[in-house]
Amino acid sequence: MTKTGNEIRESFLKYFEGKGHTLVTSSSLIPKDDPTLLFTNAGMVQFKNSFLGLENRGYTRAASCQKCARAGGKHNDLENVGVTARHHTFFEMLGNFSFGDYFKEEAIAWAWEYLIDVAKLPKEKLWITIFQDDNEAFEIWNKKMKVPHDRIVRMGEKSNFWMMGETGPCGPCSEILYDQGKDTGCRRPQCDVHCDCDRHLEIWNLVFTQFDRDESGKLTPLPKPNIDTGMGLERLTAVIQSKKSNYDTDLFTPIIRFVEKTAGIAYGKNADNDISIRVIADHSRAITFLIGDGITPSNEGRGYVLRRILRRAARHGKLLGINKPFLNQSAQVVIDMMKGVYPDLAEKASFITKMILNEEQRFMETLDAGLRILNEETAALKKAKQSILPGALVFKLYDTYGFPADLTADIVRHDGFTLDSDGFEAEMEQQRERARGAWKGSGEEAIADCYLKASSMGVISEFCGYEGTNKSDAKVLAIFVDGNPADSVREGQKAEIVLDTTPFYGESGGQTGDTGYLEGTGFNFKIEDTKRPIDKFIVHKGSVLKGEIKAGVKAQLIVDEERRKAIAANHSGTHILQAALKAVLGDHIKQSGSLVNALRLRFDFTHFAKISDEELKRVETIANDMIRKNVPVKTEIYALEDALKTGATAVFDEKYGATVRIVKMGEMSMELCGGTHVKQTGDIGLLKVVHESAIAAGVRRIEAVTGREALTHVQKAEEELKKAAGLFKANPLEVFDRTENILKQTRELEKEIETLKGKLAARDSGDLMNQAHVIGGVKVLAAQVSIADVKTLRDFGDKLRDKLESGIILLGSKAGEKAMLLCMVTKDLAAKYHAGNIIKELAPLIGGSGGGRPDMAQAGGTQPENLSEAIAYFEKLMAK
Ligand code: ATP
Ligand code: MG
Repeated sequence: MTKTGNEIRESFLKYFEGKGHTLVTSSSLIPKDDPTLLFTNAGMVQFKNSFLGLENRGYTRAASCQKCARAGGKHNDLENVGVTARHHTFFEMLGNFSFGDYFKEEAIAWAWEYLIDVAKLPKEKLWITIFQDDNEAFEIWNKKMKVPHDRIVRMGEKSNFWMMGETGPCGPCSEILYDQGKDTGCRRPQCDVHCDCDRHLEIWNLVFTQFDRDESGKLTPLPKPNIDTGMGLERLTAVIQSKKSNYDTDLFTPIIRFVEKTAGIAYGKNADNDISIRVIADHSRAITFLIGDGITPSNEGRGYVLRRILRRAARHGKLLGINKPFLNQSAQVVIDMMKGVYPDLAEKASFITKMILNEEQRFMETLDAGLRILNEETAALKKAKQSILPGALVFKLYDTYGFPADLTADIVRHDGFTLDSDGFEAEMEQQRERARGAWKGSGEEAIADCYLKASSMGVISEFCGYEGTNKSDAKVLAIFVDGNPADSVREGQKAEIVLDTTPFYGESGGQTGDTGYLEGTGFNFKIEDTKRPIDKFIVHKGSVLKGEIKAGVKAQLIVDEERRKAIAANHSGTHILQAALKAVLGDHIKQSGSLVNALRLRFDFTHFAKISDEELKRVETIANDMIRKNVPVKTEIYALEDALKTGATAVFDEKYGATVRIVKMGEMSMELCGGTHVKQTGDIGLLKVVHESAIAAGVRRIEAVTGREALTHVQKAEEELKKAAGLFKANPLEVFDRTENILKQTRELEKEIETLKGKLAARDSGDLMNQAHVIGGVKVLAAQVSIADVKTLRDFGDKLRDKLESGIILLGSKAGEKAMLLCMVTKDLAAKYHAGNIIKELAPLIGGSGGGRPDMAQAGGTQPENLSEAIAYFEKLMAK
């Protein structure tokens, strides 16, 4: 029986566990330790520091099955996907690692034993490549593993020598390739292991990290060499299952079946369709796992790679004739297949599929229009015998229709077109320019320029406000008036002042700037706002209350402490709120924006579902429990790399400096943050959520108040309740029951009024019946009544008609300044009289218009004083 992909994954891990390896679970696709790397692209990524000897994990042998993405950055296989049988944007890499423990001999022996004895691959199909100078590896393969010398191919540095960077650990590699036979790949007779086609499939790469490389390129042997290996699970599964393509293995077939079913197209019948089906199958896995690891579609960085993959898949769906969102469903297929190995996928399933559906819907709105334009343009270019798509067009598709440039390239490649990338880049640059221009219009530009100039000339301000809110002996370094440097500023003037040191927090990271006073001998300056336009450049904005301030003088800075305290409580409250949200809604909660000022806090975060009242209440309760724990709020400075390693919450895509500050609240919360905070969580007092809403697809907003404001909020609410209770002369806690009762009573009363109205009308209609008289052989009832609304008037008319049995009714009624006319004709007279026509003739008399059916019609007008005239005219009409 052939093994399934899942069994093969298991067998690999079990084999290496048997060789003393610790099994380590896959790390996230977002590399934690390496901000320079876009995605985790190999098994060794999470062990980088162990290789460098910077981290001791308590074991020296490890094996893993690592989620990898090669869809952007240094490793990008996106263009290959769908075209080759072996490349994916997302794949799983099996690997065994030695941190200064075993080396080349064991690494080779175990790899060979696993492939031959466990995976049962035929020896005669395997080829080995080694680095040209690595005789040691040759000896092991040839003498110990008995691989014939003509099956061991020496290769150059480019393919078989691995380096972590320009300097540092490096070493030779040895690859194991599987020959799939001359009917696979390019089919050239001279095809060999050097060929890039699918025939000689690289399944495993063994890296022997044995040197340290210095700047001059000199290699020094490492005292404790390492082993790092990587084997694609999909490729291994393909060869074990005797499939020529990864897509024919059970790791892909359920997704392919789903696409076939959705498109109504069979796989394997048409080369173009097959590419689209493979692209969709591959991309479905990638988007599922990327979103599962917390990436959301956006226009930058990882989010943009995700968006590009998703849109590319959507467009291939279109090529297959699928005209509705479907990737959200194929993602569900992926989740069902993989949740056994990656249980978090099951937890996040609804978030993942909703996120995908939403992005699909958005793109579908513009996809057709964009494709139409693209088709028109390429047809015109073809006629003109041109094969380069102008940058302006590529930009328009990008900007207006959401086509990433590589998607456009993918679409037109088939027709032999390439993109004018320089032209596209120029358009992008112009757009950035326009964005800057828009900013310029706001009048900030001139000021910003003078800041830049001053800062480049060495004007630097240190922030000393973490320790206190008061600072004497600060030196005024620069003064700006209307965006120009000034030597001094006098009473009544507005100005911006920069000092060498300041306790004033300049607005940043969502936290508002401080306010307060700047005082010195003979002068007083009121600080209304503080900004930090450039790092280490803090600008105090305000006006001179008294005297004159000159550049160079000493001054004292006093922050409005009460306000600062309120801001700090809101900022710390934001951290607590985030922790509480994670506890209640899950770890996928990511900050997407925040605002903190003295009055309230606002926190925007990723989450798809609506938050129920019940959940919101739990969030609030947990947040306040955390506050009451009253743990000290501690801050520590870390190197960025170390900070990320601690697992502290960082804001996605935020640019951090080399050193960062971590704000810790016991075990509850740990965030990278430069803001000012309370000393103990208890200082926050109370946190009260006041508003929850959706602000964009998948982004929700919570607004809350803390401390004194929270108390005020609760007091106000209670006051309102008391007022209401006062009306009822009841206890506030009874207000709900009372209100409910009253509403019920009101509904009952309304019903009663309706019944009474009916009764009254019935009585009135009895009286009116006496007025019916015969004109020209037809019973006629014409009268003025006092019924103010149309519906009642009509009900009343119905009653009269029933009583009349045969005849014509005309009712006139006055409602304030308005007049109404209603005419009804019984069925038996319908052939002779038309209510609509009668009304049409009468309506002008009351200054209005109207009409209706043969049996019933009505009119409204503005001259109620003419109603009796209209009625008289009607009788005259009837007599004719
Ligand atoms: P190739 O030359 O085929 O692109 P590679 O040299 O880039 O492979 P490595 O970086 O050595 O591959 O990665 C180790 C192993 O991971 C490979 O031997 C292969 O089994 C697997 N692998 C690499 N890239 C991919 C991919 N895009 N999709 C699936 N598996 C891959
Ligand atoms: Mg590659």
